[in-house]
Amino acid sequence: MRTGELLVEQGDVAPHFYVMIAGELEILRPFGTHETLVTVHSPGQFTGEVNMLSGRRSLVRARVTKPGKVIELDRQQMLSLVQTDAEVSSILMRAFILRRVELIAAGVGDIVLVGSTYSASTLRIKEFLMRNGHPYSYIDLERDHDVQNLLDSFQVSASEVPVLICRGQLVLRNPSNQEIAECLGFNESIDEAHVRDLVIIGAGPSGLAAAVYGASEGLDVLMLEMSSPGGQAGSSSRIENYLGFPTGISGQELAGRAYNQAQKFGARMLVARAARLICDTKPYIVELENGTRISTRTVIIATGAQYRKLPLENLSRFEGAGVYYAASFVETQLCRGEEVIVVGGGNSAGQAAVFLAQIARRVYMLVRSNSLEASMSRYLIRRIENNDAIMFRPQTEIVTLEGKDHLESVYWRNNQTGQTDKHEIRHIFTMTGADPNTGWLDGCIALDDKGFIKTGPDLLPNLRTAGWPLPRQPYLLETSLPGVLAVGDVRSDSIKRVASAVGEGSNAISFVHKILQE
Ligand SMILES: Cc1cc2nc3c(=O)[nH]c(=O)nc-3n(C[C@H](O)[C@H](O)[C@H](O)COP(=O)(O)OP(=O)(O)OC[C@H]3O[C@@H](n4cnc5c(N)ncnc54)[C@H](O)[C@@H]3O)c2cc1C
Repeated sequence: MRTGELLVEQGDVAPHFYVMIAGELEILRPFGTHETLVTVHSPGQFTGEVNMLSGRRSLVRARVTKPGKVIELDRQQMLSLVQTDAEVSSILMRAFILRRVELIAAGVGDIVLVGSTYSASTLRIKEFLMRNGHPYSYIDLERDHDVQNLLDSFQVSASEVPVLICRGQLVLRNPSNQEIAECLGFNESIDEAHVRDLVIIGAGPSGLAAAVYGASEGLDVLMLEMSSPGGQAGSSSRIENYLGFPTGISGQELAGRAYNQAQKFGARMLVARAARLICDTKPYIVELENGTRISTRTVIIATGAQYRKLPLENLSRFEGAGVYYAASFVETQLCRGEEVIVVGGGNSAGQAAVFLAQIARRVYMLVRSNSLEASMSRYLIRRIENNDAIMFRPQTEIVTLEGKDHLESVYWRNNQTGQTDKHEIRHIFTMTGADPNTGWLDGCIALDDKGFIKTGPDLLPNLRTAGWPLPRQPYLLETSLPGVLAVGDVRSDSIKRVASAVGEGSNAISFVHKILQE
């Protein structure tokens, strides 16, 4: 390699991996005509971070500053090394993950987000980037004084924020998650025409577990995820009852680890929504929202559930601007030192209340029932009772929301006394359960009366009417369509917990092997 030579350019898809034998390499973050030095690699060191595994675009530029020699591997060679040599794998995986964590912490990425604290879309974009583990720099319209110069240089007006500046070139005004995924090239290196062994729809705990086991057992696995890995668990501030994590783990950390693990074994993920399952053809076809069709011999449906919404007329005006469905780090930064409301009496509401009580001045916990005994784990009830910052309000529900651009006040009613009071509270966290994500299946598969997917023994009494065509009975997690399985929260009668979702996702792979051999 010669001085000045670019081994990697920012934006390169599936960048190669280099081990330095002699010479020196600078890793730089370009923005416009400007370059910021990220690090310098000397002999014995190697390039790369987690996009080596995902094959996504390079966030940085690598330029030779002293001539020398390198060992060069393409993505496929690097993946085979990680999959076959345990010692090298542990060094590389650790370095890749820690480097990505450092890039996120330092905001060193290929995008700049210009947004506003008061905008729901800004919050959505921040969450999408954070949960997909993509580093970005953030400039706030209200707080950063130099923002006007930046907006002028890209010919954007303040009224158009949130604005995403991609690799210093492309300007996206209030982009959808799909547009962000396209601009960042999340889906670029994936061959959509290829017939897969297994397509997993949903990358919550159950889908991720299926991807890890499937890919590690040699299957050609593609995951489809409409948002970001982690699902509902990804929005949990701390999961304390998952085996092996005695001090608890945030849902996002658990999801990040699982996603890296799945990629290490070669599983791929498309950021896209499955809009239809075409079930009268073999191989099956999963149609994406943009019309792309993916063919596959087997399918695992792991689409979980989505949060229930409060029955309030103007709720959508305040979603992301005072009404939230997760209590993760991003949301809590908005309500430091203020009063907040948590609605719901289940474990997720309990966790959110305990977590928020560390940051907020006071947490009002509103439930329609009389007590928490029937719906919440005992350890959480005890924590709530012992926390002076949490005020429990039984038999109470929110009846009105008020505010202009952001929630300003809330009226709640005590259903026992009938009294309604106004409270000047700007943040509500709603944790009131979830409904299954099965609307897109459009009659292809037998569902129970609440819309959850029936599997295995649950289908037996009415196997014929469910349309089951084979002489054998459906396997434990198999749906009424042979070769299509359902796991986790979306499955009828499933236990709505991380551990059972992970268990079902892993178990499903043994049935996939059997089906592929039929
Ligand atoms: C705030 C909170 C805290 C929790 N805390 C705990 C806890 O401490 N311990 C515990 O055991 N459990 C906890 N749970 C429950 C646990 O998170 C769920 O049981 C678990 O996440 C279910 O996993 P899943 O993979 O089945 O589905 P989900 O987690 O719901 O994931 C489904 C995924 O599918 C994606 N998807 C949906 N439709 C489509 C589509 N059409 N195309 C593409 N993708 C799609 C979604 O975006 C999502 O990522 C908590 C839940 C919440 C909400």
